[in-house]
Amino acid sequence: MTLKKYHHIFFDLDHTLWDFDKNATETLIDLYRQFELMSFNLFSEFALVEKFMEVNNHLWDLYNVGKIDKVEIREKRFTIIFMDLGLTPEQVPPDFGEVYLQSCPKKTNIMPYTLEILDYLQEKYELCIITNGFDDVQDTKLTSANIKKYFKQIVTPESAGSKKPQKEIFEYALGLARAEVNKSIMVGDNLQTDIQGARRVNMDQIFYNPNDLFHKEKVTYEINCLSEMVKIL
Ligand SMILES: [Mg+2]
Repeated sequence: MTLKKYHHIFFDLDHTLWDFDKNATETLIDLYRQFELMSFNLFSEFALVEKFMEVNNHLWDLYNVGKIDKVEIREKRFTIIFMDLGLTPEQVPPDFGEVYLQSCPKKTNIMPYTLEILDYLQEKYELCIITNGFDDVQDTKLTSANIKKYFKQIVTPESAGSKKPQKEIFEYALGLARAEVNKSIMVGDNLQTDIQGARRVNMDQIFYNPNDLFHKEKVTYEINCLSEMVKIL
């Protein structure tokens, strides 16, 4: 395979650089104690984490296809989770969602080799973020994890007026970065939003598949570890 000369690398943030699962898990375990949820005698902190992952992933899938908005994710998430775990609506702690949103983005776990690969890439390429996450929390995540300095642009649905996999957000990001699509590549963990989205504007893609999940999607490159990017770029 001939290597192409890229100028711009567009990264997804959650689950690609910022370790969403680890950070959310740590936050929920902290909050389980803080809110004394053991006093209900209904579920463990691990059951809370498991239910959160199930409900949150489902709500994000609906958000990505435009079926619900940011406010609905934020308002519904913990009500659904706690009621699934056996609480009555009156027992759901009203400020749990808000406290979660204040705490989780401050967590600093990043995916393996994030700093090493960003250090390596920043010498040779312009790096940008295209995320479907929200301005307020994404900025905190990048700052807390100390990786904001690597990125020239951070494109969110709020700034772009569209979200992945819509082609408009990729076109917006390319324009903002003054990047050429055939000299750009998208790196992300989500086959629908990151990979199919990039393909819609004919941008090459690197599918980051840390759990080596089976799929039938056509991708330009696939990696299981971010460190493998040195073989491509
Ligand atoms: Mg992601």
